[in-house]
Amino acid sequence: MSSKLKYDVIVVGAGPAGLSAAIVLAKAGVRVIVIERGRLPGSKNVMGGVFYSDCMKDVLDDFPGNAPVERHVIDQRIWILDQGSSVGFNHKNESFNKKPYNCHTIFRAQFDRWLAGEAEKAGALIINSTVVKEALVENGKVIGVKTDRPQGDVFANCVIAADGVNSLFAKSLGLRKKIKPDSVAIAVKEVIGLDEKVINDRFNVKNDEGVTIEMTGSYFNGEAMAFLYTNKKSVSLGVGMVLKDVINNKVNPNDLIEHLKKHPSVAPLIEGGETKEFLAHLIPEGGYKAMPKLVGNGVMLAGDAAMMVDAIHREGSNLAITSGKLAAETYLEVSQQGGDFSEKSLSLYVKKLRDSFVLKDLKKYKGVPDLLQTNKHLLLQYPKLLNQAAFEMLNVDGVSKKDKEKLIWKTVKKEIGIGNLVKDLFKLWRNMV
Ligand SMILES: Cc1cc2nc3c(=O)[nH]c(=O)nc-3n(C[C@H](O)[C@H](O)[C@H](O)COP(=O)(O)OP(=O)(O)OC[C@H]3O[C@@H](n4cnc5c(N)ncnc54)[C@H](O)[C@@H]3O)c2cc1C
Repeated sequence: MSSKLKYDVIVVGAGPAGLSAAIVLAKAGVRVIVIERGRLPGSKNVMGGVFYSDCMKDVLDDFPGNAPVERHVIDQRIWILDQGSSVGFNHKNESFNKKPYNCHTIFRAQFDRWLAGEAEKAGALIINSTVVKEALVENGKVIGVKTDRPQGDVFANCVIAADGVNSLFAKSLGLRKKIKPDSVAIAVKEVIGLDEKVINDRFNVKNDEGVTIEMTGSYFNGEAMAFLYTNKKSVSLGVGMVLKDVINNKVNPNDLIEHLKKHPSVAPLIEGGETKEFLAHLIPEGGYKAMPKLVGNGVMLAGDAAMMVDAIHREGSNLAITSGKLAAETYLEVSQQGGDFSEKSLSLYVKKLRDSFVLKDLKKYKGVPDLLQTNKHLLLQYPKLLNQAAFEMLNVDGVSKKDKEKLIWKTVKKEIGIGNLVKDLFKLWRNMV
């Protein structure tokens, strides 16, 4: 790269946020360069695999088209795990089986590469194997980026930082502080190969129909969330735990996934499978309160770089794509108004985010990360009691149902107490509804 390189917009990071921004900009005739540190887009990226594709409608005309999607999800299950048992509920709906499907399972290595191809087709330039080291700033305004290539400075009117959870770029500008261990989760994921027919039989689906299972509960001491998603010929199994808990409890995340595999509700679903891939990554789960400043002079932050993950609904990639798209639209509007890319002008981006589901949803659940960190019993005692109560009511042993109900109540009063139960319900209502 030469020091003379000048583009309209530099996008740092070829993940969903950066690539959607690049597509919208390139389609509008903007000269955009995407700088990616991986050998190829997606080569370093991880996600459980559930992709809500409604966000694509303003980015590409005919999603999924030839996009590399695995299965469309028709059945979503939630399991509360205890030692040796689980209580679950699910929602399966024929509406999920009508095209255009709105929820797919995907592999990021393939998906990001494909999306990068779409960005190139639209006219964006993608440079791989290049690390953006820091922002170039002049008179308090970002004017470009410094890369790890010799003479690798690149200049632009505006930079969209979409470099993921660790965002060196946002840190170099002081827009983001060092990540706090209670604001990120470390997640490990294993892709387990299984025959397509075996998956269809075990999960009660056909063709490319898919199932997702979210899991939590006392089986993980109330401190981890797990998932199992069906792909065409494999399942993605993973567990995430807040980094602070990993450090405090000296947990090895690999042990968590091994523990998960042994649960009697999970083991039969993966039996006979072969590990194809093992991945680990951070998830910015701190929510609304952990978000950094979203704009500066000449810069906007999108996706994980801005900590935009809705952990309650396992949504991140769709927030990334929508924020990338809104950052691009902001650039286009500010250009039309004379091209002053100051923090003040770019604050239009924040307004757009506030008007969208991205900030509305993150704000709605702003108290949840703190609630779960300071009330560990919610995912420990209640799941245990729920499993015990389910067993009591479903195990026919000559004891009357009335007596079983009395026993359940007695246990709840002893383990939690009526006052605490009311307080917990109130806390949940205040933070979730
Ligand atoms: C285990 C796990 C499970 C998840 N499950 C789901 C799920 O099921 N559904 C969902 O919607 N979301 C899920 N997420 C969240 C989702 O993956 C993210 O929210 C989403 O990937 C964010 O996209 P992004 O483009 O902002 O960042 P990323 O996807 O992280 O992309 C950032 C890009 O920037 C590049 N980069 C980083 N630093 C530099 C640099 N200095 N120079 C150049 N390039 C750089 C990276 O290589 C990468 O390509 C999950 C996350 C994890 C870790």
